[in-house]
Amino acid sequence: LDIWNNVPHPSFDSIFKVTIAYNADNHPAKVPLLMGVYRDDDSRPWVLPAIKKAVHILSSDPDLDHEYLPIRGLPEFTDAAAKLIFGLTSPALVDGRVVSVQTLSGTGANHTGALFLSRYYPWPCTKQIYLSDPTWSHFDAIAKNVGIEPMAYPYYDPKAIALDVDGFLGTLKTAPRGSVFFLQACAHNPTGIDPTPDQWKQIAEVIADKNHFAFFDCAYQGFASGDLDTDAWAIRYFVEKNIPLLVCQSFAKNAGLYGERVGALHMVLPNKDTIAQVRGQLSVLQWSEISSPPCHGARLVSFILTNADLFSEWSRDIKTMRSRLIAMRKELHRLLTEEFHTPGNWEHIVNQVGVYCYTGLSPDQSKALADKAHIYLLDTGRVSIAGLNSKNIRYCAENIDKAVR
Ligand code: PMP
Repeated sequence: LDIWNNVPHPSFDSIFKVTIAYNADNHPAKVPLLMGVYRDDDSRPWVLPAIKKAVHILSSDPDLDHEYLPIRGLPEFTDAAAKLIFGLTSPALVDGRVVSVQTLSGTGANHTGALFLSRYYPWPCTKQIYLSDPTWSHFDAIAKNVGIEPMAYPYYDPKAIALDVDGFLGTLKTAPRGSVFFLQACAHNPTGIDPTPDQWKQIAEVIADKNHFAFFDCAYQGFASGDLDTDAWAIRYFVEKNIPLLVCQSFAKNAGLYGERVGALHMVLPNKDTIAQVRGQLSVLQWSEISSPPCHGARLVSFILTNADLFSEWSRDIKTMRSRLIAMRKELHRLLTEEFHTPGNWEHIVNQVGVYCYTGLSPDQSKALADKAHIYLLDTGRVSIAGLNSKNIRYCAENIDKAVR
């Protein structure tokens, strides 16, 4: 008898399946519109010039060591990361009621945040977290791993290809008082649709009224508007309104440090009274799981956050990435509407923000693009705009046109 006989076969998320199909496809014209990773116009990974300089500074330090970081990470990094997300004059930072922990990128922040809530949040009934429908599917698994049941709140209206704000507000109003809501701060994955500032204000008002907890995930700061402060606006507004919250922050996308796994979890407490307990238990959780986080990426990010020249260069690098994505959105929209006269409305391609476009293509149309044209997107019709470039965009538009006719 094999001791592993009772290990069930996994049911993979569709992104795994499509990635396997993409990797197995040997066609030279195959197009990856799957992963949320930035690529330049030649489909190559882009090492940000600001990061290149930081790497150079770091590697020329003769005293560089490879010691363990403290359990909660590199203090220069977590301090600067908190300032980046909350703003220098944030009341929470001024009052000293933010606890920050360096994590294994955004995923690690989400895990540690969910684990902390699972252990210590005063749940209104059962452990449940409300996620936008649809959402970053990874979080569903993260929540289940720590014994929290994922629930859905309406977010995307497929008919309007827009935010279902009434549905969203409706669930906020009917959920038990003190429920936890998972909110993406900007550049929503997978829809590319963010609430407007006015809609955020309405959302914040109900959350405050109902004493809900805001579990913010911010993996794309800078990608929605091109500006780091503007993209942190919703979080800062919630902090101003004294809504209890945490923020999961990632530098994978905006610093191009995917493999370095550099991120942070920030918990904003209502006051300083419980700071020692919260900080202590976060240290215990972190220690029990990873001892201490990795140092290389945190050192790089703390350089770009604390050196004025590197910071302005990094801000420009973010604008460079965003401009290319916007240029691709505009060109895809132009090709479909003006050149191919593709049936349907394609305005959402230019109205949505960030890395992803929820095209409105059906699972069958998405599959047909892979099978007939070697263009790989998620079966939900989600396209990563970063996979488009000046060489493949016409081919993609032409085949999208064929798929919908
Ligand atoms: N949140 C969202 C919405 C994401 O799309 C991602 C990455 N795909 C993450 C968090 C975490 O990314 P990472 O762990 O690479 O920082």
